[in-house]
Amino acid sequence: DTRVRFAPSPTGQIHIGNIRTALFNYLFARKNDGQFIMRIEDTDQKRSTSEFEEIIHREMDWLGLDWDEGPQVGGEFGPYRQSERLDIYEEYVQELLDKDLAYRCYCTPEELEEMREEQIANDEAPRYDGRCRNLTEEERKELEAEGREPVIRFKSPLEEEEIIINDLVHGEVSFSSDVIDDFVIVKSDGMPTYNFAVVIDDHLMEITEVIRGEDHLSNTPKQKLLYQAFGWESPNFAHLPMILGSDRSKLSKRSGEAYVYVSEYRKKGYLPEAVVNFLSLLGWSPSDDEEIFSKAEIVERFSMDRVNKSAAVFDVEKLDWMNGLYIRNKDLETVVDLAVPYLEEEYDIEDESREWLELLVATVRESIDYLAQINDEVAVFFEDLEYEDEEEARETFAEEKVDLVLETLRDRSQELENWEKQDIRAMMNQIISDLPVGGRLFFHPVRIALTGEESGPALFDVAALLGREETINRLNQALD
Ligand code: GLU
Repeated sequence: DTRVRFAPSPTGQIHIGNIRTALFNYLFARKNDGQFIMRIEDTDQKRSTSEFEEIIHREMDWLGLDWDEGPQVGGEFGPYRQSERLDIYEEYVQELLDKDLAYRCYCTPEELEEMREEQIANDEAPRYDGRCRNLTEEERKELEAEGREPVIRFKSPLEEEEIIINDLVHGEVSFSSDVIDDFVIVKSDGMPTYNFAVVIDDHLMEITEVIRGEDHLSNTPKQKLLYQAFGWESPNFAHLPMILGSDRSKLSKRSGEAYVYVSEYRKKGYLPEAVVNFLSLLGWSPSDDEEIFSKAEIVERFSMDRVNKSAAVFDVEKLDWMNGLYIRNKDLETVVDLAVPYLEEEYDIEDESREWLELLVATVRESIDYLAQINDEVAVFFEDLEYEDEEEARETFAEEKVDLVLETLRDRSQELENWEKQDIRAMMNQIISDLPVGGRLFFHPVRIALTGEESGPALFDVAALLGREETINRLNQALD
């Protein structure tokens, strides 16, 4: 049975890279009718917090990435927080110590630093030189008497051997055991290190595929050695390509226009369906040319052999385009519900009718990519009119026949029985055919008079939204 896991460390805001890893695990599990497990890797006690854990849950919920086992939902393989599994790790550390595959090391940080500097000075790659590997009982007692708190190190092979990883994305990747020193498996505070705990947990939780970012590929040989030491079969590995900013630098907080934290996309009003769709294409592609699909459609198409080896570029413009498409394809009612909280932040809309809000959103949704942008688009309906270019506006109003256009529209607006968009539209068309002017001579000055701008939504929508009184005010302002 397929069992995969997402194993975040709750040490900060969840970023795009993490959530893409979560998504690919989710897709793989759903595609293979397997289990998706959430495991919280909180052994870094100084940096892990329950707030960050909650944030992980919140963003996963937002994107609809539900898990089958993990904190909150439980499961047979728990506990699912590493900090609650310390007694389990202890047992396995003891096993390695008993088998003489691990040892206590008493070197201080200063001694390690000195070792490192010396090696660098000698043009050697820095590595732990194994000086505590063969301490006698007596030497150990002495060091302990000095009050030194030991770490526990794994004995990596002395004879060079080849460590081969059959990666589902990268194919066969081989490492020489020479590059692996006696790495720490338990820190001096008694906490297991990542490389150790991850192996114990993936084994005990019966994980079949470890799907994670490529930044962990270099940890994999260490993990392989641990599997060997315990005599366990290792899971399959799939290392997902890195995500780069559009400048091809690592996606970091500084990647210019792209946000790295998932919460920022949620706050800006990106739709979860669009974000899932977009993220799925970061490192994976379907076998057809399609690009827009629902989560269920992605699950149907997903396979690890269509995951790329090379880095994926996070193209914010593409995300914006895609999100805009989702906004326009969604039913209006839902978009209004989603837009209201954004509008409320900037404008007083308490007294506006639902009908008016629907017209408002329908009128501007063509021009927004994410919901937070709506406030700029609707400003013209809430704020006092300002001409984008005052001088040009005055020139336009001074043109021949423009007075006639504006006055006629004003007068007929006063008389119009129902101030509804279809009636307004008919009235405007009537004016164009009654007056000796073409469409352009009507629309251009009227648009500037009503919105202050050269382009924008249809004028009958604009007038309907402004209301009769404000429409007339603005026409008078132009005629002044
Ligand atoms: N806690 C690790 C991380 O967040 C998990 C890596 C793994 O999946 O093995 O990077």
